[in-house]
Amino acid sequence: MTTETSPGLDRAACPARSLEDLVGNTPLLRVDLPGLADDVTLLAKLEMLNPLCSVKDRAALAMMRAAERSGQLPATGGTVIECSSGSTGISLAALSVRRGHRCIIVMPDNATRERRLLLRELGAEVVLVPHGEGLLAAWAHAEELQRTLPGSWLPHQDRNQANARAHYDTTGPEIWAATEGRVDVLVCAVGTGGTLSGIARYLKERTSVHVVAVEPARSAVLSGGEPGPHGIPGIGAGYVSDLTDLTLVDEVVAVSDEAAAATAREVVRATGLPVGVSSGAAAWASRTVGADPRRAGATIVTVFPDSGERYLSTTPR
Ligand code: PMP
Repeated sequence: MTTETSPGLDRAACPARSLEDLVGNTPLLRVDLPGLADDVTLLAKLEMLNPLCSVKDRAALAMMRAAERSGQLPATGGTVIECSSGSTGISLAALSVRRGHRCIIVMPDNATRERRLLLRELGAEVVLVPHGEGLLAAWAHAEELQRTLPGSWLPHQDRNQANARAHYDTTGPEIWAATEGRVDVLVCAVGTGGTLSGIARYLKERTSVHVVAVEPARSAVLSGGEPGPHGIPGIGAGYVSDLTDLTLVDEVVAVSDEAAAATAREVVRATGLPVGVSSGAAAWASRTVGADPRRAGATIVTVFPDSGERYLSTTPR
């Protein structure tokens, strides 16, 4: 098995040679969330501790390396175009600026100001599309842009197998090692589905883990509902992406925007860590699943995809 980063690399002990060396190997934090059953252990993978502060550093790096290997992207001077709610765009922009690529990110116009400013800071061009038209319209815009820029590379994170593979190669093994194989439940919010599919496949090959997919209640397509606008950025794309492997999913939990935001604040109070809204959704779903008497004594692992700092301009307080 090839690995995209080096699980086990001790970041503190050896100097990193590049940004790429800093991706992954994030810690698991025990979260004592109020209302969680006493005998349930909730562990959160702190993906905001990646260099560009989100889980998408892993997918962006894996997709870019795969494109470099296959010749879709030159070593320098290429053009990268991607449609992103922000996180993937930021990761790709950082990897691109270092390599001397032009980077164009197509984003819904409700993406937070922090994201837009950070993308520009990283030298990326930002194209905003009306969020009311949905992500599929944004994808169509990115594809159109690619047609007008011959030789450009569009990773298409929602169908690029390197995205899920990044989590199979790194996030899954890291969780397995840190828990010494004691994972009863995996709770994972779904955007492209890369995080869930990669981790779940790795864990299910080794143990009988119960996999819970988390989606916004206002766009509960995995639960068979209708797509719609919602307030949990990064998840709930409004369609089931090619990367979302439903055969790995045992349960789907739909979370309201309000519960996600309120639980993100509970996580802040419980841990001192500002977490993003999708982390709040994952924490709410984890507590709901943990309340089931069948889960007594269980270890629940969830993923906190990014930091609350990316949402400060939009958080009502
Ligand atoms: N939360 C946030 C904030 C995200 O940006 C993303 C990625 N779009 C996710 C969760 C979901 O990750 P994935 O795309 O791997 O399903």
